[in-house]
Amino acid sequence: MSVQILHGDIAYSESPQALSIHENAYMAVEDGAVRGIWPQVPETYAALPVTDYGRGLIIPAFSDLHIHASQFLQRGVGMDCLLFDWLERYTFPQESNFRDPAYAEAVYGALVRELLRHGTFHASLFTTIHYDASDYLFWALEKYGMRAFVGKVNMDRNSPDFLRESTEESLRETERFVRNHAGNGRVQPILTPRFAPTCSEGLMKGLGEIAARYGCGIQTHLCESREEVTTALELYSSCGCDAEIYARAGLLDHGPSIFAHVIFPSPRDKELMHQAGSVAVHCPDATINITAGIMPAARLAEEGLSIALGTDVGGGHGMGIYRQAARAVQASKVKEFYEPENRCLTFPEAFYLATAGGGRCFGPVGTFKEGSRFDALVIQGVEDPGFPMAPAERLERFCYIGDDRNITARYIDGAKLNLFDGK
Ligand SMILES: [Zn+2]
Repeated sequence: MSVQILHGDIAYSESPQALSIHENAYMAVEDGAVRGIWPQVPETYAALPVTDYGRGLIIPAFSDLHIHASQFLQRGVGMDCLLFDWLERYTFPQESNFRDPAYAEAVYGALVRELLRHGTFHASLFTTIHYDASDYLFWALEKYGMRAFVGKVNMDRNSPDFLRESTEESLRETERFVRNHAGNGRVQPILTPRFAPTCSEGLMKGLGEIAARYGCGIQTHLCESREEVTTALELYSSCGCDAEIYARAGLLDHGPSIFAHVIFPSPRDKELMHQAGSVAVHCPDATINITAGIMPAARLAEEGLSIALGTDVGGGHGMGIYRQAARAVQASKVKEFYEPENRCLTFPEAFYLATAGGGRCFGPVGTFKEGSRFDALVIQGVEDPGFPMAPAERLERFCYIGDDRNITARYIDGAKLNLFDGK
């Protein structure tokens, strides 16, 4: 058995409301799993060497539940466009480039390194309609031991010609992707209808059959804007709400259901999500950039829905989920200002969404409770020299003004990651 002892200021979410802080503490990691945290090294481990991070914060790695991998190169570009122009000018031409596997390798390789750099070790990603590009991303994530869901996108209507599949082709290629990637690995395939308006009823029904055949979950956009809901329900006129489109197709029954944005859910949407144990993914930067609104995150959480955070790159412009934790607090204050019935989030609540809340989709990660896998980051250098701060203050400051340069060590499943010139 391999045992590591680490020393530092250890912080993780004990619950959605409470941070657990162990200042100047020791943690034992046995075969990649957290064994315990103590103020002194326990007798059993006394002879072992200690990896000492001093006043470094040791925290769980982050989870990003909504990324468009194919939009990696367009982050921070065209942000003054309205959604339709942005899709036409930037997103759709960019996504069409992924028919070229060499392009996909270059972009997806860079994306995976950037996720690791920013401490995101668990992610749910959309690719494009292209099989080979999606296959490359799957294995690139697996190679680093990341935990992830990867979905080949489905679009058979209301899409530009160069990104539209026939229904048969979309189902055939999706089934091939799911069949060839299903298994017990840390990266799993997931069904990914872009959203209801770009998918015919026949396609949705066929995806439901694939979900049942392979025990597969779904990721998509839900209640992203009032226009999206209206358009979706015009096309699916027998459905009473957005979530019902996916529920009726049998897409909520066989694996996780991960829904981005969920800004205007109806009571029936929430009921269906609750029944299925769906995750609502809050992407504050992105829904501001695309002028979609702000998820009522605190209220949805109080109503019992599971919430996580996403960057929604390239709708969002930055890769760090830690920044989305800060932005979730900011956005909730704006929401409360205009709609006082929505209370704002506290920082511990936002940090929970960035770690344990999202991590639940990927197994025992996102926390340091005993038995959790040690996917972790060490954060240093956020204090002003000569002005020491408490661990909880350093954690909050990192999320607000820190960046990847403050992440000085990364561990995946207990193994130290040496990606960046040995650092
Ligand atoms: Zn999105």
